[in-house]
Amino acid sequence: MPELGQRPTPRNQFSFSRVKTYHQCPLRYRYRYLKGFKEAFRSIESYLGNIVHDVLEWMYEERERSESPSLESALQLLADRWTAGLNEEITVIRGSDRVDAYLITGREMLERFHKGTFRTDRSRTIALEQRLNHKLTDEIVFTGFADRIGRTETGRLFVVDYKTSKKEGDASEFSEGLQAPLYAACAMRSYDDDEALAGYHYLRHESTSWQSVDTDRAQQLLDRFQQLAAEVNSATEFEPRPGILCAWCGFNAICRSAEVPEKLSGGLEKAREFQDRKPSLFEKDSQ
Ligand code: SF4
Repeated sequence: MPELGQRPTPRNQFSFSRVKTYHQCPLRYRYRYLKGFKEAFRSIESYLGNIVHDVLEWMYEERERSESPSLESALQLLADRWTAGLNEEITVIRGSDRVDAYLITGREMLERFHKGTFRTDRSRTIALEQRLNHKLTDEIVFTGFADRIGRTETGRLFVVDYKTSKKEGDASEFSEGLQAPLYAACAMRSYDDDEALAGYHYLRHESTSWQSVDTDRAQQLLDRFQQLAAEVNSATEFEPRPGILCAWCGFNAICRSAEVPEKLSGGLEKAREFQDRKPSLFEKDSQ
């Protein structure tokens, strides 16, 4: 059962997801990052994404050890991790969906990846799940985790982010425009390169979208992130911004502005159940 402890994120640590959360809903940002509340449930989509990332990490670790991880081993690891991690916190948001359908989707993504990109990929891995930090000002440090950093066969530095989302992204800032390119900018500084590739690999589509980051663009990206983080850091009002994402927001049981349609009410039902069982752990908010 999740606990709603008071564990605010260090004030000067800004990840891409922190800034994105503020952009999507300032009130959710306040709950999560300023008050340190833990969301009441974890969506099945997020659970699937984390486990698929774990299996990809294992596959590339094995390859760096000169092993050839088989598809069967990867699928077995997926199944084992899936079963071991399932708990009452993991929640299906869409009422018509079944838990097992997500595991099948995970299997399909890994199968496509193993038979496609992984089989033909001749790049070298430098780091997996690598934490990247870059001090922007005394008050703002950019921080994030790059899924995979490596070098192509011709030696080009790259950073790739694996996505399990249904849709491929676009060039906008909170889609493909900022996150992976920022990681590439940090990696360039860490590995002393003056150019890097930033990629998003969409596992449901078995497609990768690449963009090049040079030193000028790297500086522009860091400046832009600093600007966005500074806006978040100086915010004094945290208005709710209700929309489709309320269904996936773990504070929807205590938020008076939540808009959750009946067919997407799995998370809301779980949060209310939690609230009924441990009402003292929830703060009643005035908004
Ligand atoms: S339920 Fe919706 S409006 Fe309320 S905090 Fe969450 S995302 Fe924001």
